[in-house]
Amino acid sequence: MLVKSDVPGINDKEPEGLKEDGTAYRVLIVDDSMFIAKQLGQIFTSEGFEVAGTAADGAQGVERYKEMYPHIDLVTMDITMPVMDGVSALEKILEFDKNAVVIMVSALGKEDVVKKSLLMGAKSYIVKPLDRKKVLERVVSILKR
Ligand SMILES: [Mg+2]
Repeated sequence: MLVKSDVPGINDKEPEGLKEDGTAYRVLIVDDSMFIAKQLGQIFTSEGFEVAGTAADGAQGVERYKEMYPHIDLVTMDITMPVMDGVSALEKILEFDKNAVVIMVSALGKEDVVKKSLLMGAKSYIVKPLDRKKVLERVVSILKR
């Protein structure tokens, strides 16, 4: 006979946003689109991650990263932004902290820029339009590997 613990339902599943010690992974969302930032925020908070900061351009993103360091586990980095683009911001963040975990958020058709970012040290990328399941898969595979 099956008991409940043999068949874990989706609601019994551990939230993906928690570390082994039970505290939340802290995320910085860098994006000039309020819509995308909100969408990412909802995906993360629904899984127990903590959105510890947001920034609307690359320069702000670098600043926020430095302020939050070392209490930051993950950055989602948009590519096309005013003031400073995501690739430049990635470079600056890695100059400051070579272990930074940055995931690029790309529009379709930006394969060259994504490739460049990965070579520079971005850990992964996600493509817009955002798919909740894919976002979480990518993020979790980076954070929990
Ligand atoms: Mg943008």
